[in-house]
Amino acid sequence: MSKRDFYEILGVTKSASDDEIKKAYRKLAIKYHPDKNPDDKAAEEKFKEAAEAYEVLSNTEKRQRYNQYGHAGVGGASGGGHYGGGMNMDDIFSQFGDIFGGGGFGGGRSSGGGRRVMRGSNLRVKVKLNLQEVAKGVEKKLKVNKFVSCGTCKGSGAKNGQYDTCKLCNGSGVQVRTQQTFLGAMQTQTTCSGCNGEGKTVKDKCNTCHGDGIVRAEEVISINIPAGVAEGMQLSVGGKGNAAPRGGINGDLLVLIEEEEHPELKRDGSNLFYDSYVNFADAALGTSIEIPTVDAKVKIKIEPGTQSGKVLRLKGKGLPDVNSYGTGDLLVNINVWTPQALSAEEKKALETLRASKNFAPNPNRKEKGFFDRMKEYFE
Ligand SMILES: [Zn+2]
Ligand SMILES: [Zn+2]
Repeated sequence: MSKRDFYEILGVTKSASDDEIKKAYRKLAIKYHPDKNPDDKAAEEKFKEAAEAYEVLSNTEKRQRYNQYGHAGVGGASGGGHYGGGMNMDDIFSQFGDIFGGGGFGGGRSSGGGRRVMRGSNLRVKVKLNLQEVAKGVEKKLKVNKFVSCGTCKGSGAKNGQYDTCKLCNGSGVQVRTQQTFLGAMQTQTTCSGCNGEGKTVKDKCNTCHGDGIVRAEEVISINIPAGVAEGMQLSVGGKGNAAPRGGINGDLLVLIEEEEHPELKRDGSNLFYDSYVNFADAALGTSIEIPTVDAKVKIKIEPGTQSGKVLRLKGKGLPDVNSYGTGDLLVNINVWTPQALSAEEKKALETLRASKNFAPNPNRKEKGFFDRMKEYFE
């Protein structure tokens, strides 16, 4: 499923200030709030969509990544595994504290609600990729040390899987309070202090995990990294983070991409650059040279009379765009090498050529100068 643009969702421009983004989100959150739209699936979707957009655009770092790489930069990449996948209602309501300035809207929701499900923490790992792996995409097997569900009690934390209902909240997990707000009377909930909102307490603690339901273990996680990722991007693999205490929801695995520098090819977005040096005679007479690409070396032709600074563009020999907007090019910059040490004989040969009018720079040259080449590239 393709995602809508986050700016479009909030109805703001790409240059919107933090304050404008906050205001736009606040408006949508009130409009589509589940309490105002009971049993309205479409409103709920809009509510979630806006929350997700706000979550990214309200965070400077995430917003930057989103501007640069689109949804893939903030955990929306496709290609194997389950990446991202929106926010749940608990996440959204916990975000409300800073939108509605505490109080006001209240921390929780008034209808439905219910027991809190524990969530495992996110796990962060770094993955270093070489240029070939970036170009093709790669499956990486990562060994991580993390919390997993306890095998003895099957994650329940309780011997024989038995629980007592929490006496403080009678199993609801919340303490409820009614409040007047600008949307009318609303009930606000606070998490039960007796059971941390779980509604239940462990009867006899499991000996292996001491009632937590989780233990540390090493796990090999295989992740598919899509082609075209770049240094600093973060992929999020849903549910592969730490297990939650007592059968809650797993956290996510956040994979930070690092790039190994290629000895010869430099990268700018999806384009690659290579600096090539040809000797003065070859530039004048023409030749063919070998240059590296991501896959293998290729031969390219140097036309007779090639000027230093000429850029040859090898279409499609760059890197694929992570959002599948095509593939970049390999730009080969031709530098003509001027000899720096000459024998007496060579000097003599050049002295005789120096006077030739064919050696004088042509003021009416057709080749583009440095400025024009730069302009062409950045446009
Ligand atoms: Zn256990
Ligand atoms: Zn309780």
